[in-house]
Amino acid sequence: MINSSLKTLSQMLASKQISSVELTQTFLTRIQQHNPAINAYIALDTDKTLAQARAADARIAAGNAEALTGIPFAQKDIFCAKGWKTTCGSKMLANFVAPYDAHVISQFDAAGAVNLGKTNMDEFAMGSSNETSYFGGVKNPWDFDRVPGGSSGGSAAAVAARLCAAATGTDTGGSIRQPASLCGFTGLKPTYGLVSRYGMIAFASSLDQAGPMAKSAEDCALMMNVMAGFDERDSTSLNRPKEDYTRGLANMVGAQPLEGLRVGLPKEYFADGLDADVAKVVQAAIAEYRKLGAEIVDISLPNSQLSIPVYYVLAPAEASSNLSRYDGVRYGHRAAEYDDLLDMYMKSRAEGFGAEVKRRILIGTYVLSAGYYDAYYLKAQQIRRLIAQDFTEAFKQCDVIMGPTAPSTAFKAGEKADDPVAMYLQDVYTIATNLAGLPGMSIPAGFAPSTDGKALPVGLQLVGNYFDEARMLDVAHAYQQVTDWHLQMPESLK
Ligand code: GLN
Repeated sequence: MINSSLKTLSQMLASKQISSVELTQTFLTRIQQHNPAINAYIALDTDKTLAQARAADARIAAGNAEALTGIPFAQKDIFCAKGWKTTCGSKMLANFVAPYDAHVISQFDAAGAVNLGKTNMDEFAMGSSNETSYFGGVKNPWDFDRVPGGSSGGSAAAVAARLCAAATGTDTGGSIRQPASLCGFTGLKPTYGLVSRYGMIAFASSLDQAGPMAKSAEDCALMMNVMAGFDERDSTSLNRPKEDYTRGLANMVGAQPLEGLRVGLPKEYFADGLDADVAKVVQAAIAEYRKLGAEIVDISLPNSQLSIPVYYVLAPAEASSNLSRYDGVRYGHRAAEYDDLLDMYMKSRAEGFGAEVKRRILIGTYVLSAGYYDAYYLKAQQIRRLIAQDFTEAFKQCDVIMGPTAPSTAFKAGEKADDPVAMYLQDVYTIATNLAGLPGMSIPAGFAPSTDGKALPVGLQLVGNYFDEARMLDVAHAYQQVTDWHLQMPESLK
């Protein structure tokens, strides 16, 4: 059951083979058993969770269930959830109880889904290993010595260890896709503006986007049906008609369901810096796509090597502005002792933020300051436009872009913790997508051996054109019909 698809769980609930309370209890028991070691969840509230499960059972009995009614999900702790502690992985918000629901949370509630708890994450979503969390690191379920990726590391581990049916995450530069690659599951970062950011704690507002983290593309499609949609409370929410993201999945049958699909391989994504074993797995997945009927096209994204430097100017700039609200006055941590107002600001922020967050605030404030604004911030905005144009050109030649999600498999905890630049390079293939606002996905494509002989998951990245999520999900689903990488789970957690 823990390995079942959302569709199967939904059918089991509808046919009363299982109740939502029983299903929820199954996951709560697994959480009790494994979370002390994995540290995926940082807030649990069994009473609230089971009350939702009971309400879902009543709704199912009344005959007005929806696709996700009664199914238990994990929610990244970046989403405000009324009455739940909402910390964003920071000491700054360690005691903050959200007074309202984020749009994403209320969408799941309205669908009758069950909230299992809030998941661990890098502090304010800054990181690629979950090691910057105030609440400690998260173990990669495939190898407890390794990181799950970040920043959505808790959701990632919860999905991979089957401590939930599926989870939510957010992706500013790769935080859904990179952990999906390192933990071996399917994650989708939608087109910017498709999922409302209302109530989602801001990191870099022009890049942040929420999305599903699940076992399969089909599961992601069902979650997208709930998550996507216009919300007037987010000024960047796009007012578009609702879509059914599952609409094409059933057509992905037959010998060559992807006949005519043009897959672009950017030469820059297969160059220096890509681990050879990861490259092999990615190439094998592309060969599989050829068998499914896809035509492979060589493309170039000439400015892609600029995406990391551009991101590390723009994201910190936006973060420095967004995080100025944590001043000890309105909410969040306030220093116990201080001399005057300025001292209170300084001590509260010095105590409340961790090292990585402080580094970004410093960089962001610097690039926005008079005299440097033109040289850094403005320049980065100009190059951001060029990076987006690369994709516009590429999509004249292909329908979907494929390549590795991350340059390596999961690395050891501590390995990159003291080397910010090495950590930043984890997102070398994912960041450009955010800068352009495009949808990106990572799907399990196989395993590569680690130095100590363990098999570690490898993700294949798919990047689509704006609003092409439904097609990307089809393309991923076609692959998942002929492979079973997405169904694998760590032996020790079965
Ligand atoms: N790893 C990147 C960073 O540290 C991206 C994080 C994210 O997508 N939230 O900023």
